[in-house]
Amino acid sequence: MAKKQFKSESKRLLDLMVNSIYTHKEIFLRELISNASDAIDKLCYISLTDDKVGLNRDDFKITIEADKEGRVLTISDNGVGMTAAELESNLGVIARSGSLKFKNDMEEKPEDIDIIGQFGVGFYSAFMVASRVTVISRAYGEDTASKWVSKGSDGYSIEPYECPDKGAGTNIIIELKEDTEDEQYGKYLEEYTLTSLIKKYSDYVRWPIMMEVTKSRQVETDETDDEGNKKKTWEDYTETEVVNSRIPIWQRSKNDVSDEDCAEFYKEKFLDMADPVSVIRVSAEGLVSYTAMLFIPSVTPYDYFTREFKAGLQLYSSGVMIMEHCSDLLPEHFRFVKGIVESPDFSLNISREMLQHDRQLKVIATNIEKKVKSELKKLMETEREKYETFYKSFGIQLKYGLTNGFGASKDMLSDLIMFYSSKAEKLITLEEYVKNMTEDQKYIYYAAGENTALLDKLPQAEQVREKGYEILYLTDEIDEFVVRALRNFQEKDFRSVNDEDLGIESDEDKKETERLETENKDVLDFVKEALTGKIVAARVSGKLKTHPVALAAGGEISLEMEKYFKTMQAAQGQNAGGMFGEMRAERVLELNVEHPSFAALKDAYENDKDKATNISKLLYGQALLTAGVELEDPAEFSELISTLLF
Ligand code: ADP
Repeated sequence: MAKKQFKSESKRLLDLMVNSIYTHKEIFLRELISNASDAIDKLCYISLTDDKVGLNRDDFKITIEADKEGRVLTISDNGVGMTAAELESNLGVIARSGSLKFKNDMEEKPEDIDIIGQFGVGFYSAFMVASRVTVISRAYGEDTASKWVSKGSDGYSIEPYECPDKGAGTNIIIELKEDTEDEQYGKYLEEYTLTSLIKKYSDYVRWPIMMEVTKSRQVETDETDDEGNKKKTWEDYTETEVVNSRIPIWQRSKNDVSDEDCAEFYKEKFLDMADPVSVIRVSAEGLVSYTAMLFIPSVTPYDYFTREFKAGLQLYSSGVMIMEHCSDLLPEHFRFVKGIVESPDFSLNISREMLQHDRQLKVIATNIEKKVKSELKKLMETEREKYETFYKSFGIQLKYGLTNGFGASKDMLSDLIMFYSSKAEKLITLEEYVKNMTEDQKYIYYAAGENTALLDKLPQAEQVREKGYEILYLTDEIDEFVVRALRNFQEKDFRSVNDEDLGIESDEDKKETERLETENKDVLDFVKEALTGKIVAARVSGKLKTHPVALAAGGEISLEMEKYFKTMQAAQGQNAGGMFGEMRAERVLELNVEHPSFAALKDAYENDKDKATNISKLLYGQALLTAGVELEDPAEFSELISTLLF
């Protein structure tokens, strides 16, 4: 029988697949089971109006048989089958609608071979594990069956086949490749591998998948024990049974499924030890029909902040998992969400309507983002404790999300974030802050620092605190970037307690500060001179009450940001190429002219310039310490104290 050649496009794809070091070879089974399921769907549909089919709904099944000696795996179905012509057109060519797009994608980025695993390329995936594939099929209503054989890209043959069984259906016979060092193809004959793969990818295929499985039972032996009873022993036996569970939990009605059921399912499916804080169920019909069961975890996965973590939802179509981590369905800021989305509109095969996929996915993604948002908001408003648990694990993710894209998602996220309040002494939302604001309060005040205990004592905050205003304590490195991205909340601007203008001083106070600046210009200039290279200015502070000095940042970069950049530099090492090292805050020294230290400074300035230099340096060191910034030269600082004191 003459060998026929595959169409060139098909051949290219075949070569790609057979020769790829593609790691998800196992998906071939899912593809073949899914084809079998489709074929049964078709015949089942015909049987609704055609008595001659002679099968009931319960008679349809998919059978998996493993012949270890022969190294042959057979996948059979009693579906609609294929005629010789159909075998020719279906399996001889893959140049069907949309395949061109796939091919172009491959040419542009050949490293993106994972696309095979994500959408599947159907029947051809069998060649990833097979040295030879034989398809025996009888189409419904045909007398003759046909046999299609191929070893891969060198072509295929079709011939009539004498089949004793007169029913319609298809057998896919896979002769597995020889095992290599890298790939044990023989594992696809193991009961454990096969049942695991079926559970993983095809558990919810609606037709029964039958397989011979090994079981054990207790049997009596001829021996008797002391009391004369027959001793028992375990014996293995095999039984053909259904290995898929068929009705997914997310398809069951809400009334049939308890919260505990969902939590159990979540823990088993997504390998988490802790219950989720929320389960979201969606059943949408309309432009795109889909069902979703989403989970908001309570605990950060150990690899969450590593490259290993794979975000995304599982995509199902008619009971078949077609993608394990569909990240397109989740915005970056909600990447902690786990779950499943199923839609009959998803096509298993990438070679079909890829573009339509995209549009559907976008509609679903937008809906899912809204659902997650409203669920989190609800949790925050009605079950604060649970929300706090969630926030402890993923609040930082929300904040990162907020800073991304210059605050592009701030409307989505600004009412989900929380900061520690100086007054409430716990996390509060920005909405709560604004509600607590007093009538004369202009700004949302914040102070950034290492921890709340230190911030409680921050000298710069004295004036704000005295006014009775609440201060948000920003203790995460990302926090100040969040505030910058937000700029304001409910039309109230954010203001750092370090800011020169806190909107508290009256015009008279301001004038008084200005007057003091002029009056003490000589001393201030001297201090600036004495601290050349360290500070950009020395100023009279209008806000210090009991403390002698404070450090403020003159430019865009705050002291906290400088610390953050320093850690980034340290973490990224040489790769950062000094990118973050340049990020230094411009230091401004604020002096409290009412404090005795200022009188001493002034006196020294007039009578003993060396001493005045030392006092300037000491005050600068004090300012660094209270701001939580490391001293540049601790030994010098220690010496200064001694010199001035003794
Ligand atoms: P897809 O299933 O995405 O169309 P495949 O390459 O997997 O792509 O299959 C090509 C075609 O071959 C199918 O559309 C179907 O018509 C036919 N086919 C494959 N497997 C079977 C089967 N087990 N029974 C009947 N027809 C099948």
